[in-house]
Amino acid sequence: MMERAFDHHGLEWRYITLEVAPEALHDAMLGMRAMRFRGGNITKPHKVDVLRYLDELSQAAGLMGAVNCINRQGDRLIGENTDGKGFVQSLVKVADDGIAEKNVVILGAGGAARAIAVELALSGAGPFTIVNRTAERGQHLAALLGQQLNVEANYAPWEGDYRVSEATDVLINATSIGLFDPDARVPVDETSLAPPLIVADVVFNPPNTRFLAAAADRGCTTLDGLGMLVNQGVISFEIWTGISPDPTVMRDALEEYLGL
Ligand code: NDP
Repeated sequence: MMERAFDHHGLEWRYITLEVAPEALHDAMLGMRAMRFRGGNITKPHKVDVLRYLDELSQAAGLMGAVNCINRQGDRLIGENTDGKGFVQSLVKVADDGIAEKNVVILGAGGAARAIAVELALSGAGPFTIVNRTAERGQHLAALLGQQLNVEANYAPWEGDYRVSEATDVLINATSIGLFDPDARVPVDETSLAPPLIVADVVFNPPNTRFLAAAADRGCTTLDGLGMLVNQGVISFEIWTGISPDPTVMRDALEEYLGL
């Protein structure tokens, strides 16, 4: 997706995928500095551990405690997080009256949930309900939102099928349920899904998850994880090059890569 966009915008840049073992992260980061990479994306399992090798963090990355994008400025490596921003960009396009003060329910409290929650809160959304299987992680995210971002946020235990309240504007599956598993069911009471609810899924493969299909069947507006994935790439591209890339070129390349 990145190389297709580099080509499209006439940049003779390369985007190299490198697998780094956890014990080799220190050396890999020294290598990145020595070879003067312009930047990079960081993915699992390094998004948190990489922080100790960076010189500075963006506000969002600092709040999330996770980095998925590095930007070199001179000799300094700056950590950014574009995952949540990518989600917000997708949401803004379908939320007719904006996202300020939207009532948001997030299923999950892992890295993707944290990125989305922090970025939504920075954009003025809230109140938030965090629904998670493991109470400690869910409570931790709700506390982060309440204490660091000053928004109303509560944890709700996930017992049986979660019933979405009528006050909810946006429901997000930020768990990994459905990833590479089209039959997997997110435990939500589907009869509680109704327009004008916006339902989003972070899972990008397959993009048309069972969760989104059920929401669409009930007339809700849906947002797939592919849009978030493309948008986080678009934002990384802008950070490194200063150019706003054509998202269609990137989405086409990604769909081709994923065989969709
Ligand atoms: P984490 O491992 O950090 O978190 C996983 C979350 O899913 C936890 O909240 C976990 O709950 C929950 N979960 C997993 N399985 C179940 C289950 N069977 N029942 C209930 N809850 C469950 O993963 P990430 O947050 O990093 O990633 C989550 C998903 O987001 C992945 O599919 C990933 O591919 C996708 N993603 C998509 C992006 C995009 O751009 N579209 C960007 C980043 C991630 P618990 O705490 O109880 O374990």
